[in-house]
Amino acid sequence: MAKRDYYEVLEVSRGASLDDVKKAYRKKAVQFHPDKNPGNKEAEEKFKEATEAYGVLSDAENRAKYDRFGHAAFSQGGGMGGFQGGDFSGFEDIFGDIFGTFFGGGMGGDPRRGRGRSGNDLRYDMELSFEEAAFGCEKEITIGRRAKCDGCAGSGAAKGSSRERCPQCEGAGQIRVQQGFFTLARTCHACGGVGEVVKNPCSDCSGAGLKVKESKLKVKVPAGVDNGQRLKMRGEGEAGVGGGQNGDLYVQILIDEHPVFQRQDQEVICEVPITFSAAALGTEIEVPSLDGKLKLKIPAGTPSGKVFRIKNKGIPVLGSSPQRRGDQHVRVYVHVPKQVSEEERELLEKLAKIQGTVVEDDSDKGFFDKVKDMFS
Ligand SMILES: [Zn+2]
Ligand SMILES: [Zn+2]
Repeated sequence: MAKRDYYEVLEVSRGASLDDVKKAYRKKAVQFHPDKNPGNKEAEEKFKEATEAYGVLSDAENRAKYDRFGHAAFSQGGGMGGFQGGDFSGFEDIFGDIFGTFFGGGMGGDPRRGRGRSGNDLRYDMELSFEEAAFGCEKEITIGRRAKCDGCAGSGAAKGSSRERCPQCEGAGQIRVQQGFFTLARTCHACGGVGEVVKNPCSDCSGAGLKVKESKLKVKVPAGVDNGQRLKMRGEGEAGVGGGQNGDLYVQILIDEHPVFQRQDQEVICEVPITFSAAALGTEIEVPSLDGKLKLKIPAGTPSGKVFRIKNKGIPVLGSSPQRRGDQHVRVYVHVPKQVSEEERELLEKLAKIQGTVVEDDSDKGFFDKVKDMFS
């Protein structure tokens, strides 16, 4: 049977990046994995085919050979040697990687590379003020997480005893399973992948090797974080067991409402009331900003609702270097007083006498013309 083209197998273009190749293989591997398709020969073949293609295309040297010579580069007597189905180095690494991140504990343990069991990821909700989120900050947080037990130094074995090699997997933490011509490694159920078992458990942690502890952590919040974003703190989740990796801590950002400012991505928006006379005659007002008070010129004849843009007074763009900032948008509106003083009343009455009640300004004339039409 003629071999299918590796690029065709993974459904990627010849110029696909390593990342794309990896993604494409993940998709195929998840779809055709023998565990998900028990007894399905066709799926098994497709799984092997995809794995073989991935083995070649994920390795720069092999890929270059394949691009030049095609399958002949790896056939017997082809002179290039090296690759035979499933026999390339790093296969288990890749495999553990894929299924570790994809299925999590769903496959009966977490077969991430190496021995041991990985710790769980954790989440912490962090409330920030508007300004803290805008300019970044450093916060100390206290979290309760399962960490190494002091009573047994994380071994889980009672004082005077120690962990013993797991008889099931003989300490490997994994059981090898023949799957066609691949050997797959599965997490050992007897020891949960740790490779060791506890005969005489520590009384502090009942043999788990882990205990919930309060820990203080410093979190550096970068300038420009937004509501709902997560900061990943690698290795700050729960402790792994038996040499397993620690989980990660995800800090979820929640930003408090600001009494004056609103935020839209990097833009800061605020509303400022002005008097009718200021809008009509023009003036200079003070407006609040993240950098303190700013002067804003209001030109004569400013309509209510007009928005003024103040450049570079918004939120810093997350991760920008040199730092860039959004703008501030100031929407002014004409404030109508509920009560007026005696003097104001006199002046307003005088004004009313001049103006009448109907707006005579050209810009609004259209409206009254239309109304007149309605009743004529
Ligand atoms: Zn303990
Ligand atoms: Zn075992």
